[in-house]
Amino acid sequence: MLILDRLLTGLHDACAAFPDKRKGGGDYSMADIGLSAFSLFFMQSESFLSYQRSLEDERKTSNCRTLFGMAKIPTDNHIRAMLDPVHPSHLQSSFDQVFATLRAHGGMKEFERLGGRALIALDGTEYFCSQKLGCPNCRTRKRANGKTDFHHSMLAATLVAPGHNMVVPLMPEFIAKQDGAEKQDCERNAARRWLAAHAERVEDLRPVYLGDDLFACQPICEAVLASGGDFLFTAKPDSHKTLYDFMNGAALEERSVTRKDGGKTLTCRYRWFSRAPLRDGKDALAVDWIGVTISDAKGKATYDGAFVTSLDVTPENVADIAACARARWKIENESFNVLKNNGYHLEHNFGHGKQNLAMLFAAMNLLAFAMHTVCDCLEDLWRDARTAKRARKRFFEHVRTITAYLVFPDWRTLMTTLINSKPPPEIAKQIQG
Ligand SMILES: [Zn+2]
Repeated sequence: MLILDRLLTGLHDACAAFPDKRKGGGDYSMADIGLSAFSLFFMQSESFLSYQRSLEDERKTSNCRTLFGMAKIPTDNHIRAMLDPVHPSHLQSSFDQVFATLRAHGGMKEFERLGGRALIALDGTEYFCSQKLGCPNCRTRKRANGKTDFHHSMLAATLVAPGHNMVVPLMPEFIAKQDGAEKQDCERNAARRWLAAHAERVEDLRPVYLGDDLFACQPICEAVLASGGDFLFTAKPDSHKTLYDFMNGAALEERSVTRKDGGKTLTCRYRWFSRAPLRDGKDALAVDWIGVTISDAKGKATYDGAFVTSLDVTPENVADIAACARARWKIENESFNVLKNNGYHLEHNFGHGKQNLAMLFAAMNLLAFAMHTVCDCLEDLWRDARTAKRARKRFFEHVRTITAYLVFPDWRTLMTTLINSKPPPEIAKQIQG
């Protein structure tokens, strides 16, 4: 499992460089403190550290040492206190390494579409909400019952592709009040900041940015073009009156394709129009528009959507472009749902802090998810172990359970144990007599 080992070594180095508020160091290194927090997300277990502490007490070793390369395990309170001042941008090198690893080992092939291009979905999501806990970076909203919600949101950028369910989160941009700003921050501003800060890193992948109707406005579309990418955003009639008025009565190009999808017969009807104005005014950007309707064998529409894009839509590529536009639903279905429901505890992570902790934990969570995807793409043993345990959730249940009682010398032995549903004799010995 050399690829995972290298990613964890990279993360170790990133954590070692975290700002340390202690004068003259302390009992625990910043690397141990950072990796401790990360291990909870990577193992998807709130209790991982407490089990490892028991193993340390009994056997003077633990999976924190063997799998994550830590020397000692700090207490939860110490982890929270030491990580609160650390801004999530300190994890950038690890996010970069995930991408570089995918590219170096051919993992990007799984994600290339539209002639070797990358699809990056931009999406806002709330990752924390509470009526009790709050920090100075929390956004607030009043409830009808007079109570105040404290919440945090982020603009996530995620590599997606139609045809499979793997996704790779990139470093997010947090939606939080910016220094000197009067108003509350919003998703659109965060998207522009994300493009300004990160678009250059992915420019050579010739990205096509996907997003919902909120982003299909001139400033964001211009920012995408200026960053060297293209856009493919949902565009609803209500929010794009000029665009739809312009096309009203015009002859749309059209193409229908009937195909089988798991025993069902589906008819996809594509309509498109070239160079329509995105908004009112002389300086309006000219965009191509695509409408997609999918109907079942009885002619009942099961999907109806419309998009604007800076790509040139042709009869040859309209179906591919539409499939890419629809890949964005993965963000909800694959990424955020997994993060929120399947054991990542994204919304109720392990503390909130007073400065950056909530953001740092959310970023670590995404980073853990990104590393899981790298393993899904590139680590054969990991993939075999995942297949052996079928559902993602079950795979992590098994990981959680066996690492609570057994110390594995390396990831290879852990994965082999999952594949065989049985630890090798020298590991099994740990719990005998
Ligand atoms: Zn907060």
